[in-house]
Amino acid sequence: MSVGLTGGCLCGAVRYRLRGTPCHITHCHCRSCRRASGAAFVTWFTIRVHELEWRGERPMQYHSSAAVSRGFCPHCGSTLTYFHESDPEEIDVTAASLDTPEVLVPEHHTWWEQRLEWGTANAQSALPVHQRCGG
Ligand SMILES: [Zn+2]
Ligand SMILES: [Zn+2]
Repeated sequence: MSVGLTGGCLCGAVRYRLRGTPCHITHCHCRSCRRASGAAFVTWFTIRVHELEWRGERPMQYHSSAAVSRGFCPHCGSTLTYFHESDPEEIDVTAASLDTPEVLVPEHHTWWEQRLEWGTANAQSALPVHQRCGG
């Protein structure tokens, strides 16, 4: 996995480049991620806030709870980021918004107890279940 990965939204108005290495790559099955994305689950990676360099427009923010901001493209609506005030040094980015998402290797599942059965028939594989996120 390398530094310098790039990504962006569906329409291309919001673009980003990583100055660090993604870590903590997880499939989040919480209801909030599901609603925010319209998908059965969302795969996130974590990066230091200062290692995420925005290009073009900035994402618009939606506060899905008091401490949580979810960033999305103001034009096409692509789900891009998750930020929790309790962890101000880090931000989560949607793995599938990368230009080369295939380079990431998911490490675990989060909020497995909220999963949709039909969305996860083959998803568990050998990955462990990890607790965090939400809101
Ligand atoms: Zn867009
Ligand atoms: Zn979630």
